[in-house]
Amino acid sequence: MNDRSRSSAGLLAKADVLVVGGGLHGTSSALNLARRGVSVIVLEADYVARHSSGVNAGGVRTLGRPLPEIPLALMSREIWHTLPDIVGDDGGFVPSGQLKIAETESELDECRERVALLEAQGFTHEKVVDRETVLALEPALAKHVTGGIWVERDGYALPFRTTTAFRLAAQRQGVRFYEGTKAVRIEQRGARWCVDTPRGSFAAEKLLVAAGAWSGELASQVGEPVPVHPEGLMLMVTHRVAPFCKATLGATGRPLSFKQFDNGTVVIGGKLIGIADLQGRHGEVDFMRLARSARTVVDLFPHLRHLGINRAWAGVEAFTDDSLPVISPSRSASNLYYSFGYCGSGFQLGPGCGWLVAQMMLDGITALPLGAFAIDRFSRSNASTEGPTAGVAIQH
Ligand SMILES: Cc1cc2nc3c(=O)[nH]c(=O)nc-3n(C[C@H](O)[C@H](O)[C@H](O)COP(=O)(O)OP(=O)(O)OC[C@H]3O[C@@H](n4cnc5c(N)ncnc54)[C@H](O)[C@@H]3O)c2cc1C
Repeated sequence: MNDRSRSSAGLLAKADVLVVGGGLHGTSSALNLARRGVSVIVLEADYVARHSSGVNAGGVRTLGRPLPEIPLALMSREIWHTLPDIVGDDGGFVPSGQLKIAETESELDECRERVALLEAQGFTHEKVVDRETVLALEPALAKHVTGGIWVERDGYALPFRTTTAFRLAAQRQGVRFYEGTKAVRIEQRGARWCVDTPRGSFAAEKLLVAAGAWSGELASQVGEPVPVHPEGLMLMVTHRVAPFCKATLGATGRPLSFKQFDNGTVVIGGKLIGIADLQGRHGEVDFMRLARSARTVVDLFPHLRHLGINRAWAGVEAFTDDSLPVISPSRSASNLYYSFGYCGSGFQLGPGCGWLVAQMMLDGITALPLGAFAIDRFSRSNASTEGPTAGVAIQH
């Protein structure tokens, strides 16, 4: 920890911007802010990448996104393809493609309807594929599959490595990280934001709350309650097995996220809900639910029937009532901003959202519209869900 800027009793350090949360969204925002020339401090209660950002399934997926998120996801995906230029490391990104499998005719109809809806909105990244194409892409799949949706430029990456790469790039840009430093109280005192921690206070003109599942409590402190709740999302990783699957897979009719790494292990998940302990700051595995998911995998890849599981874990993730994140200025206080509630899909969005958050905080205008992610949408009856337009001013 850097104590050189201790300026008065209780005030440990100050900067232009304070970021609460050292997940991918906090580190990516910090990096983008620092690149714009402002001084940034990141406060992290545990250690960087300890929670969702370091333990997720690594899916870099534009496939299946809610409509308002698609422009962000497509923009972010292009950053994934150039990650070494941005942070000096590719984060283990593999452009494997993502394939969502249909197992019945009615599921394939669902896929067709989804892609038609997207095309009507001008999005052409998801393609319907027939049974033969699915089996040509993944010959080891069970023969009952009926088709699916294919997105060629999607893929997967390594979560801890990616978040660490953003952290190191941010540090090279001058960002100061304080780990083991929990923001206990946030408060605007005069023209600056003060964050009290057990180690002392931090101050800045602007404050970003990027505290994942813990963000709701901080928003409540400034009288801005938001319906965000934690879930413990589970994953398991298998023993090594000879290469049999190249794409990252999902399913249409049941929860699944599935990928085989180069070393032969297979990571299995798909928004499988375990137990989230917000106070204890950890997630727990519900083995009965995990067993159900293992059965899905065996249905799709019968030859994995006897494959053993190396380990299973759960991470604490933030979910909102409408399954969209909050990326927004505060509506009740000046110079306060939020980026949280990524509902099990925020890893892919991290590189792109950090760029947009820096614009939101420094320019008040962003390259893509963020209206659908406003924090006050839950208390408005006609929340905005506008489509893909550029250059939208943020209302303070
Ligand atoms: C098992 C699992 C699988 C997933 N799979 C995928 C996937 O395949 N693809 C995908 O795109 N997304 C996936 N996700 C979701 C993705 O990981 C998250 O949406 C994303 O990482 C959220 O990042 P974040 O920075 O907002 O939050 P986090 O990573 O949770 O970071 C928030 C940080 O804030 C810190 N913090 C909290 N309160 C305070 C405080 N008061 N003071 C200081 N620090 C605080 C926390 O300690 C934490 O480190 C998955 C998530 C899980 C759990």
